Amino acid sequence: MTTIHYTFTPPAVPSLAVQGSEQRFPVNRIFCVGRNYHAHAIEMGRPVDKAAGRPFYFIKTPSALVESGATVPYPCGTENYHYEMELVVAIGAPGFRVKEEDAASLIYGYAAGLDMTRRDLQLVAREQGRPWDLGKDFEKSAVCSPIVPIAGLGVIASGALTLQVNGTQRQSADINQLIWSIPELLADLSQFYHLQPGDLIYTGTPEGVGAVQTGDVITGHVARVGDVTLTIGAAE
Ligand code: MN
Repeated sequence: MTTIHYTFTPPAVPSLAVQGSEQRFPVNRIFCVGRNYHAHAIEMGRPVDKAAGRPFYFIKTPSALVESGATVPYPCGTENYHYEMELVVAIGAPGFRVKEEDAASLIYGYAAGLDMTRRDLQLVAREQGRPWDLGKDFEKSAVCSPIVPIAGLGVIASGALTLQVNGTQRQSADINQLIWSIPELLADLSQFYHLQPGDLIYTGTPEGVGAVQTGDVITGHVARVGDVTLTIGAAE
């Protein structure tokens, strides 16, 4: 076997803990679904007509992953740093052009995630018709809990999803309010990508998104999946 000599030591593979296991889940890609709850789409000024459209996606760099429980610095370049509480689907088997009825076979498990957002930069990009990367794909912007294996959960179609900031409830919804369900998302996304083990899919946030400041503590919860927490530290 040939040893590869890199010009520098490559970064560690981003990974997440797995509940009930010593093994870690190596993260490949991070897909995020935009506008997947009606009330959130409306609060963002972009209501969704499911019959007239399809879901849309953006991507976060895997190195943006940060584990639940972390303290992250208030990010550079923003004055409007928002939380978005989301159910995360972890892919455990390859899938391309998957049928909705076969979607469950791709799922390794679930997690509770925060799609942290530089809202001011996202909205400038949106209004100018530019990519969302500065608003969405920045360092430590993809917060994720340990992964709960699918066993016993099946394809999650309902369950409470909530978020508190410093103990005050800010988001409260049910997974059954997803505009595009998990099987519909996997069927649609796999029309455009060969889904791979290690891919994460942030399934979208409900209404109630808002800004956080240095010192704030965010706690999110997904029924039967668990909690995600994040503390906002000082700006760098
Ligand atoms: Mn989101």
